[in-house]
Amino acid sequence: MNVKVPFGDLTAQYLRIKDELDTAVRSVIEDNAFVGGSRVSAFEEAFACKTGAGHCVGVSNGTDAIYCVLRMLGIGPGDEVITTAHSWIASSEVISECGAKPVFVDTDEYFHIDPAAIESRITDKTRAIIAVHLFGQACDLDMIEDICKRHNLQLIEDCAQAHMATWRGKHVGSMGVAGTFSFYPGKNLGAYGDAGAVITGDPKLAESIRMYRNHGALIKHQHKIEGRNSRLDGLQAAILSVKLPYLEEWTCERRVVAELYDRLLTPIEQVTIPQQREHAKHVFHLYVIRVSARDALRDHLANSGIQTGIHYPTALPLLEAYKYLDCDHQEFKSAVGAQHEILSLPIFPELDPIQVRYVADSIQEFFS
Ligand SMILES: *Cc1c(COP(=O)(O)O)cnc(C)c1O
Repeated sequence: MNVKVPFGDLTAQYLRIKDELDTAVRSVIEDNAFVGGSRVSAFEEAFACKTGAGHCVGVSNGTDAIYCVLRMLGIGPGDEVITTAHSWIASSEVISECGAKPVFVDTDEYFHIDPAAIESRITDKTRAIIAVHLFGQACDLDMIEDICKRHNLQLIEDCAQAHMATWRGKHVGSMGVAGTFSFYPGKNLGAYGDAGAVITGDPKLAESIRMYRNHGALIKHQHKIEGRNSRLDGLQAAILSVKLPYLEEWTCERRVVAELYDRLLTPIEQVTIPQQREHAKHVFHLYVIRVSARDALRDHLANSGIQTGIHYPTALPLLEAYKYLDCDHQEFKSAVGAQHEILSLPIFPELDPIQVRYVADSIQEFFS
């Protein structure tokens, strides 16, 4: 079967700004500006400005972004960090990598950590909460911030899927002690390889991450601490700087696609469209519907040439990697229920309304 509607199309985006990208890449190569340098600092400044953050530190990927924050907050063995039962494994594996214990919390109807279920999981070892703004929409930050304040916990926002998403008009990542971003190629702002960043309003935290990402040195050979190599490279920074000015436009285009899906799918009673939270601006990294006959629908769409995805097929506490935690699966009824029903439909800025209609018609056809 020919692909009629791909899940994503990075070539379409490249062709829109090919000349600018080609020029930027060539200039990095000509200047040998591969690691560090002006491209990286220029992107950091532009991204801080775009998100309204005081500081931005580029790192090598979105996983390292969270890891660096945890390490520089001093989180390690003996500590517990709370996070959601439904995310990409990066949100939790960084906790274990620090030597701390991941503590999972079930999800709400928006596929986010359920604020009402957090407090019962807090112990005297809990140090932080990693809130994941999954699929492009902010978690209930009012409730989560309130819990963090009352229990003296650090709030880290995993914004890997939520570039330009806001909560009460403020960019995600700016409410917690730090916000972490991935620029993996398929994210809403994507590099041409791995890349990531941390934003924070705390200048000391920014400086320590700046040091840590570069072997503990701000000045060559002056290693104040042991760090690691988690740098953003010049080529990726230059590419990201070319793309960043278009991000608002691309975000609007994603929202237009989502609105059309909403309109066409609402009449189909077997389909639950993505719920949008009051006070949150959704940027639709993914457009995730819920259907009980998910696998059969997915096969039907595949046979119609429509690519779909499942984000994610297994709730984190049920993964083999977390067998050692010996979690009680009964505590994750919502996340486990969702894993069998979620289906991510194609969404990207260049997706044609004709293609969106074709997807909606194919879903209608399946149910009739
Ligand atoms: C993509 C992603 C990450 C990790 O980013 P990488 O750049 O791939 O390391 C972390 N959290 C979430 C929710 C993600 O979607």
